[in-house]
Amino acid sequence: MVSRYPQKNTQSHHHCSQRLDGKDQEELEALLKYVSRIIQHGEALDYHNHVLKNKLSSTSQTIESLKKQLANQQKKMSVLSLLDPLTNILNNQAFKNAVAKRVAEAKRHNEYLSLLTIAIPHYKEINVAYGQRVGNQLLKQFTERIHSRIRQEDEIGRISENEFCVLLVNTHSAYDAGTIAEKILTSVRMPFSTGKYRIQIGANIGIAVFPIAAQRIDKLFRCSSGALEQAKKSGENQFKFYSESINKKYAERMETLQALRHAKKEEHFYLVYQPQFDLIHHRLVGLEALIRWQDPVYGIRYPETFISLAEDSGLITYIDDWVLKEACKQYALWRSSGYLSNKEKISVNISPQQLTQNHFIQSISNILEANKLQPENLELELTETSLLEQDELSLHIMTKLNHLGIDIAIDDFGTGYSSLKRLQQFPISTLKIDRCFIKDIDCEAHHKIILNSILQLGADLDLKIVAEGVENIEQLLFLKEKGCGFAQGFYFSKPLNQQEVEELLRK
Ligand code: C2E
Ligand code: MG
Ligand code: MG
Repeated sequence: MVSRYPQKNTQSHHHCSQRLDGKDQEELEALLKYVSRIIQHGEALDYHNHVLKNKLSSTSQTIESLKKQLANQQKKMSVLSLLDPLTNILNNQAFKNAVAKRVAEAKRHNEYLSLLTIAIPHYKEINVAYGQRVGNQLLKQFTERIHSRIRQEDEIGRISENEFCVLLVNTHSAYDAGTIAEKILTSVRMPFSTGKYRIQIGANIGIAVFPIAAQRIDKLFRCSSGALEQAKKSGENQFKFYSESINKKYAERMETLQALRHAKKEEHFYLVYQPQFDLIHHRLVGLEALIRWQDPVYGIRYPETFISLAEDSGLITYIDDWVLKEACKQYALWRSSGYLSNKEKISVNISPQQLTQNHFIQSISNILEANKLQPENLELELTETSLLEQDELSLHIMTKLNHLGIDIAIDDFGTGYSSLKRLQQFPISTLKIDRCFIKDIDCEAHHKIILNSILQLGADLDLKIVAEGVENIEQLLFLKEKGCGFAQGFYFSKPLNQQEVEELLRK
């Protein structure tokens, strides 16, 4: 405290304390006033300082929050500039960027992409007749309907007032896009309701498939809108592929599909059976059921012309189920009438989709039980290529089948190039060597090598090996020499109908 006093005259001050006259008293009071003013000032300053500090920190907080708000706003702005404000889907530029990215990926992975351009016919007239507000509502609902027909990973964008584009990714074949286009057309054909109006609009769709129609993005867009023009020409609610040959093939497929649905309803299917032989003991060891379609117009149709279509359309579930039932029923009949003993097996081809159907195992158990068969009497054939796409679920089901006692054969083996390691994962009992390796045993040296190594592999893994498509004695002799145990083919027997099987078994 003392040190804060002005120390001008210490001497006199000291001296003054001893003798305080009126003047000194005055001086002292003035001094005290002065000091207390300074103290007050100091306190006021401290207070000011404190207030200022508080203000500063709240200002810097405000600045921080403003900064955050600005960033949020900027984010929103950039999203807004990607999206079409009315429909909330990608705008023209953003959609083109997305396509560029997807095309680059598809090139790397050798995949198909389908670019659909979708137009609403007479949109301008509708806008004039009902007003912009109704027109806008229509566009929103139209977009929602398209959206509900495509998958999450597909892209959708609005490229002009009444035109939309969809990019389908992961399509297995060019035809998939046709199926989706049909679904979209069906969904937008239903009337739209906006307020008091119910309005029917429909659409046209043009499809260009990458890389078939074009490899370059700008050309892909041109092809898609070119196809759209063709679709418009053929009438309302039509779609067209860019390529005329795909249009033709697609139309044929659709015709076949319709006929197939009809065949299902009318039960136009029947089974033939191809015998399988043990090459060492020279006896029949099994019969493979093969489906045939008796078409009233075309005559007999073979599985190669309709199985993949049935798979794509989901009809395969019905077919495989029917074949399984029919084959087991017939097999049981041959057993009960003494044609077959308990030693021969019945083999049935199963599509990959069928394997993972709900209740597949239960339905097999039911069929076996209904026909009083043992699981050991049945063998299921799965193609090697379908195994390559196997997921956990199929592996799980195969393991369950195996535990039940049902044998699993790998069909068309050698065409899928499965590795030994992969093969060991599956609970299989039989490899059926694809007939292409048997076919040119004599002229294709490397086929001989492959055959040899498949037979070696089978022996190492303790698998039954069946050669498919044996047509002549030379092939048979070669296979026997190399230690192949079983064979099937025209040399022994073509696929036979019921009476023919019975004739063969009587011998
Ligand atoms: P796969 O299971 O490999 O059947 C063998 C095919 O080769 C049969 O044709 C048979 O007729 C034919 N074949 C047999 N021996 C010879 C021969 O010595 N030479 C030649 N050139 N061919 C021979 P198919 O009946 O036309 O069946 C073709 C494919 O269709 C089958 O191949 C199978 O993958 C599938 N498939 C047949 N029936 C069914 C079925 O019921 N369900 C399912 N999902 N697929 C089936
Ligand atoms: Mg087969
Ligand atoms: Mg085969």
